[in-house]
Amino acid sequence: MSNTDALYQEIILEHNRKPRNFREMPDANRTIEGRNPLCGDSLTLWLKLTDDAISDISFKGQGCAISKASASLMTAAVKGKTRAEAEEIFERFHRLVTGKMPEAEHAAMGSLRALGGVSKFPLRVKCASLAWHALHSALDSASADVSTEREGPEAPPGEGA
Ligand code: ZN
Repeated sequence: MSNTDALYQEIILEHNRKPRNFREMPDANRTIEGRNPLCGDSLTLWLKLTDDAISDISFKGQGCAISKASASLMTAAVKGKTRAEAEEIFERFHRLVTGKMPEAEHAAMGSLRALGGVSKFPLRVKCASLAWHALHSALDSASADVSTEREGPEAPPGEGA
């Protein structure tokens, strides 16, 4: 095993042992269940969307070390991000774990690089992607009514800003 592989494995084991944002969130405004029957992984993802940003995110669940570590890394990566930023991270992560990302782009992925090794194992790709697909669904379903929980005049859309 190379030093890099050992480092990546250590990141995964550490996140599995002490997952970040591993708690229920009673005041979440989005809750999504995710399941990967091929491995037996399951999780619940909670999101608090404020305006267009993920102001809080948490998860609980059980499954293999890859699924849990990936969920932990995902929550840490997208917390505080806007929906557009989170979708972009989702898209890059997807390319990473499916082996479609050029090596030169891996460095920009930070700790998420630790999961790049699953691209060689199709069953593991499902484990690593579980929490991310839940995130994707949560953001999708939020597009219609996230602003209805706010009162007062709407801020103008910030596109192009
Ligand atoms: Zn799994």
